[in-house]
Amino acid sequence: MKVLVVGAGGREHAILWKLAQSPQQPKLYCAPGNPGTEAMATSVPIGTEDVVALADFAEREGIDLTVIGPEAPLLAGIVDHFAERGLRVFGPRRAAALIEGSKAFAKSVMSKRGVPTARYGDFTDAEAARAYVREQGAPIVIKADGLAAGKGVIVAMTLEEAEAALDMIMSENAFGDAGNKVVVEEFLTGQEATVMAFVSGQTIKLMVPAQDHKPAYDGDKGPNTGGMGTYSPVPVITPELLAEVERTIIAPVVEGLAADGTPYQGVLYTGLILTTEGPKVIEFNARFGDPETQVVLTRLESDLLDVFNSVVDGTLEQQELVWSNRAAVCVVLAAGGYPADYRKGDVIHGLDSADAHSAIFHAGTKQTEAGIVTNGGRVLGVTGFGADLREAQQQAYAAVERVGFAGVHYRRDIADKAL
Ligand code: ATP
Repeated sequence: MKVLVVGAGGREHAILWKLAQSPQQPKLYCAPGNPGTEAMATSVPIGTEDVVALADFAEREGIDLTVIGPEAPLLAGIVDHFAERGLRVFGPRRAAALIEGSKAFAKSVMSKRGVPTARYGDFTDAEAARAYVREQGAPIVIKADGLAAGKGVIVAMTLEEAEAALDMIMSENAFGDAGNKVVVEEFLTGQEATVMAFVSGQTIKLMVPAQDHKPAYDGDKGPNTGGMGTYSPVPVITPELLAEVERTIIAPVVEGLAADGTPYQGVLYTGLILTTEGPKVIEFNARFGDPETQVVLTRLESDLLDVFNSVVDGTLEQQELVWSNRAAVCVVLAAGGYPADYRKGDVIHGLDSADAHSAIFHAGTKQTEAGIVTNGGRVLGVTGFGADLREAQQQAYAAVERVGFAGVHYRRDIADKAL
């Protein structure tokens, strides 16, 4: 079987790392891929949003299954295009991927079904948004409706910050059309956690939970990033709480989408805040999280290829998902300066130092004549495994010691919250 994974980050490297372990020995491709994915998959020089060229390649090469990593191609309609051409593809169609692509759409799906989430208003008129913000008071959260590469959410601690965020999004168009509408949301407090699920029509199979660390510095200080590290399992998510998340959040959303004629197929990512009133949704994503995937898939014992096929074929109900009891901790190595302007082009050493207790996933890396160099904000995801979180954390940081580059920055407290 030939499998094409679309994407170029740590998430796609982790997906391929797992697919490469399939006893079915699929032939793997990655478009466009990175120096890490190249070890297990043939790189295909086509951009992730070049939908027609990707479908042409899949047709020409006889690809049996294409797996979409990032959100942008999903919202560009890649799944619809592949399906029209009779090509098998894993991921939601555009209309269902709007659960990530439009925060106002996600909110409306939730309010129709009574799913617990922050109170909100959505606005296309800046004056109306300002009036709502003044009426609600601070702290308050301002969100650009559309995709903004993880930068479209502003947690405003004061009214001034909230109004400045509205100006930036609605008047200065900092995120282009993604900011034509804003969602203004109640500020929630509590620990954050991620629950991802494989979904096929009405069938839901939960993955093990994970917890991300968004702020750049130790102790959750500094600016928000794409994610500085993750761990799984998450002790605060008890089996009872997980069942509650499925019953009160994921099931009604999946049923709602199907009932509205936009059935979901792929991975549904639910970002939660565990409030004193119970878990509430802060976001949905229409794909695997990055870096959550780097801990979740490393705990999957079942054959990921079978799981993908069962989702696409509508047989997920019969597919068993077996998870390891072992723990995983992923520490992201970022380039100095990230998430602001950061360095590029520093040679990375120790890339082949992973052992049986660790894995090194490439994100922002590039092959040059000088060797593999840094080429993005988040450069590597170093995952450690162990019998429990403490051991996995030790293995992750031991592995971090063996790899690096000039100006490397990483958090030293990933998973501390759970220990
Ligand atoms: P990404 O898709 O890259 O994860 P995003 O731009 O969709 O990011 P969110 O994850 O929705 O943004 O929000 C970013 C962060 O803002 C969250 O991790 C959380 O810390 C904070 N946040 C979002 N909504 C709320 C809320 N209602 N109350 C408090 N904090 C919030």
